Amino acid sequence: MSGLKMPLPDAATLARRAEIVADMRIIVPGEGVVDAENAMRVFETDGLTAYRQLPMVVVLPETVTQVSRILKYCGERNIKVVPRGAGTSLSGGALPLADAVLLVMSRFNRILDIDYANRTVTAQPGVTNLGITHAVEQDGFYYAPDPSSQIACSIGGNIAENSGGVHSLKYGLTASNVLGIEMVLISGEVVRLGGKHLDAEGYDLLGLMTGSEGLLGVVTEVTVRILKKPETARAVLLGFASSEEAGQCVADIIGAGIIPGGMEMMDRPAIHAAEDFVQAGYPLDVEALLIVELDGPAAEVDHLIGEVEAIAKRNGSTTCQISTSEAERMNFWAGRKAAFPAVGRISPDYLCMDGTIPRKELPKVLAGMRELSEKYGLRVANVFHAGDGNLHPLILYDANKDDELARAEAFGADILRLCVKVGGVLTGEHGVGVEKRDLMPEMFTEEDLNQQIRVKCAFDPDHLFNPGKVFPQLHRCAEMGRMHVHRGQVAFPDIPRF
Ligand SMILES: Cc1cc2nc3c(=O)[nH]c(=O)nc-3n(C[C@H](O)[C@H](O)[C@H](O)COP(=O)(O)OP(=O)(O)OC[C@H]3O[C@@H](n4cnc5c(N)ncnc54)[C@H](O)[C@@H]3O)c2cc1C
Repeated sequence: MSGLKMPLPDAATLARRAEIVADMRIIVPGEGVVDAENAMRVFETDGLTAYRQLPMVVVLPETVTQVSRILKYCGERNIKVVPRGAGTSLSGGALPLADAVLLVMSRFNRILDIDYANRTVTAQPGVTNLGITHAVEQDGFYYAPDPSSQIACSIGGNIAENSGGVHSLKYGLTASNVLGIEMVLISGEVVRLGGKHLDAEGYDLLGLMTGSEGLLGVVTEVTVRILKKPETARAVLLGFASSEEAGQCVADIIGAGIIPGGMEMMDRPAIHAAEDFVQAGYPLDVEALLIVELDGPAAEVDHLIGEVEAIAKRNGSTTCQISTSEAERMNFWAGRKAAFPAVGRISPDYLCMDGTIPRKELPKVLAGMRELSEKYGLRVANVFHAGDGNLHPLILYDANKDDELARAEAFGADILRLCVKVGGVLTGEHGVGVEKRDLMPEMFTEEDLNQQIRVKCAFDPDHLFNPGKVFPQLHRCAEMGRMHVHRGQVAFPDIPRF
């Protein structure tokens, strides 16, 4: 049994379900409204499959006008909305609510503009992350942020989660690669933030939207930066007898001023699961494996590979393989990219955590995780974006065994507490969603959280977008705006009140 609590469904909304479904069919004619229970089952969960909930109705709009009309309708009638892209969120961000419209953006699947002069692609939000690269790769370009889910996840979802991937160490997360969006507010108003240019005027609202987890508006168009493919990219596989040595090697590579295109680490259980699954050629007699990719002009890459090899040797590396062809490089990565599904083959269920720590704390956190694994009696496999200090411990459990989900949740919460304790944060790239919602007070004070809710209130005063996600408690927006009157004196009396 899970301890997750969601807001109670609103009886008045549920009583109007038939009318709401009929109105949605008027706005989105054809097959864009799904209300039969068995057809809605495919939407009842996302990548965090531990939690399931049927939505009130699923709506798949095709045009911005339809999105605008749906949101205006919901805004005026106090109906909740859960935006959804491809539903691969690992934090339960797209988990439906029983009394909410699930607004699925998958039919927004067109590339709208490719502009090599400005090095941008403009796409609808349902285009997959890899779909952007596919649209430009024949001309030698690509889109850098590469979540392991890139064949499935949508660029709109990437913006909502500020997603990253192997190459984010050098090229940044989504936030560093998105230049503009079009979005629709709960009032139905369509607004544009940024464009093809660097840096927008006024407050950085684009920055605010990136990582806002479907809480502020629905993204209906995205303009991202594309990059020219590097002349060369080669990957090095380095094996170590301990995670501590591998962790020190990571710190020393960065300390030497080298920024690899990607630097990933896997521990023994993850190495074995990945090797069994895709036969990537990983050494099986090591405790930790580093994949370090160097990219750029060939001469520079050759030089840096030599430096990385020397640093690894100084840190006691036991094996070193350098890719000699593009096929071999891709094979090295195939194991890492398939690590999550590979772990899915050795355990009926797993929870994928996502904490970020200062790199130098890695040995301490790994040791802490081993202790927790014993305390909770559950195995853990580790996959890290080592260069970024972004950890993805995969906690293995069996949902069919009595209290294993509850134990896995408690284990995961303790790992994230440990990340915060050593100076890290609750999430690196998967978002807070429902998964880390109740841990927010571990990281933020009540006043911090209230400030964040005030931002939410400015966009969505009735908390209709994705309630129950991110914030452990919701306050009425009117309450947030309360004035503090001290001994009969209002602060700043010159400010006009309403
Ligand atoms: C096997 C696997 C591997 C993964 N690897 C990575 C990884 O390496 N790096 C990483 O960062 N993530 C990873 N993820 C997590 C996930 O793929 C990302 O968070 C991704 O960005 C989610 O995109 P999506 O389209 O599936 O969004 P969804 O899951 O549908 O939604 C995610 C959130 O975005 C909101 N949202 C979706 N579309 C919109 C929109 N158009 N407007 C406003 N809000 C919207 C939703 O409300 C929700 O809060 C992985 C997931 C899986 C299953």
